[in-house]
Amino acid sequence: MADVTIDSPYRADDDFVWLKGNFHTHTTRSDGMQSPQETVDGYAALGYDFLGLSDHDTAPDMDGLNARGMILVPVSEVSGAGAHVLALGVADAIPVRQAQQAKLDAIRKADGLPVLCHPGWGDQYDHYPIGRMLDLQNYVGIEIFNGGVEDEAGNACSTDKWDRVLSEDRLVWGLASDDAHVPMGQGRGWCVAQASDRSLAALLDAMRRGAFYASTGVTIERIERDGTRVRIHASNADGIAAIGAWSRRLAWTDGTVLEFDAAACTSPYVRFECFGRAGRKAWTQPFRLGGESMDRMRALRAERPALQVLRTDRAPVLSGRMDDPLWRKAPAVTRFVRCYGADAAPVQTELRALTDGREIFFGVRCEEPNTAMLKISVQRHGSSNLWTDDGIELFMDVDNGAKRYFHAMVSAGGFAWMGEQGDTEDAPRRVPGIRAASFRGPSEYGLEIAIDVSAEPGTMWGFNCVRNRHAGVEPDSFAWSFTGGSNHCPRRFGALRF
Ligand SMILES: [Zn+2]
Ligand SMILES: [Zn+2]
Repeated sequence: MADVTIDSPYRADDDFVWLKGNFHTHTTRSDGMQSPQETVDGYAALGYDFLGLSDHDTAPDMDGLNARGMILVPVSEVSGAGAHVLALGVADAIPVRQAQQAKLDAIRKADGLPVLCHPGWGDQYDHYPIGRMLDLQNYVGIEIFNGGVEDEAGNACSTDKWDRVLSEDRLVWGLASDDAHVPMGQGRGWCVAQASDRSLAALLDAMRRGAFYASTGVTIERIERDGTRVRIHASNADGIAAIGAWSRRLAWTDGTVLEFDAAACTSPYVRFECFGRAGRKAWTQPFRLGGESMDRMRALRAERPALQVLRTDRAPVLSGRMDDPLWRKAPAVTRFVRCYGADAAPVQTELRALTDGREIFFGVRCEEPNTAMLKISVQRHGSSNLWTDDGIELFMDVDNGAKRYFHAMVSAGGFAWMGEQGDTEDAPRRVPGIRAASFRGPSEYGLEIAIDVSAEPGTMWGFNCVRNRHAGVEPDSFAWSFTGGSNHCPRRFGALRF
């Protein structure tokens, strides 16, 4: 995929200054221990270039403060009602009594940057639940590290939630903050921005564009892009990782320089995480990937394919050949794409579905130029590693709730396994019975599968079919509904209509 392009939020030139600072700390103007001037003095002693005194629900007031050479950033933490959000760069107070989305919109309207605070705070680790973060729009950043939470219930680090939002193809920046209320909370997490000069306007401009990294102690000296390659230099790192959609690790080095080539990347973004001593870290912002194949993936991700199940008054005779006349009337789908990459599968797969109300029947025909090479190493039913052989996997979200789903694997040898995946809410369901018949011809193999649905199947299931291919080739897999990575993403299943 030579057409991949990569957008860097970082400066391509050297005509900038690194500015280090913290946007989130509290003083006696709200619930902090030290006065504003004492707080400014504390941060100046840390060698910071900028500081935001983000007292709760009050207009920033920096009048009469000696900045000790730092840029003082107007910011407040909107927190009196609802989840906390930083109004970064806003000189006025944002009204508290309004819906969360309205607050974010108001901050944007005031030309500020809304930053969701400490998503992992609280005894449920859920100051911002994932679903809420996906629903909310118009925020520029989230705190991927919040030092204050280190002394509280919850997780100070929210990179998991960040990747979840980024995996929806939304570009949101990650900030590290102190959220200090006492002197010992100062200097835990900070941002380092590439600003065109030492001014508030240049700093906010860099933050808006994502030209900064977040840190708890690792220093990134250089971030270089050359075509599709990105090089990260962090001299006090013990290792550097490239991370893509769904938090998948794409590359890793034990050294202080990572060069990553995005040319073969199938994630819509890549970000870099540097690991240092005593758990210290630094995080770059995400680099967005573009190009023809990315566009195709983005289009596929936006689709939900559907397959109509044909209702019949009897069960087909299972042979693996789909030779029962019932199959001829059943609609077929043949569009399968590579699970990683979304390009068209090099061999055709055809899928049909029938039901007589008692069972649901799937017929699959798999083109395979050399069926003598089929990998059928597991020779028994009920084995959960059938996925390592040629065959198919079915994902059946029978209540279309995107939480729990039945998962079946049937190999080209006709061996089958079935189980339940996802959140069973402590009430595992009876796993339906499964029968399969297989057929092998010179240039194709076929499977017919019957799954006992007993009761009425409902009107729509979330559904996906994945084909695993090993026959004399590098292991490959093709999906009917493109999930963008893991098969276990029920929100990305297609629709099976009855
Ligand atoms: Zn807060
Ligand atoms: Zn705070």
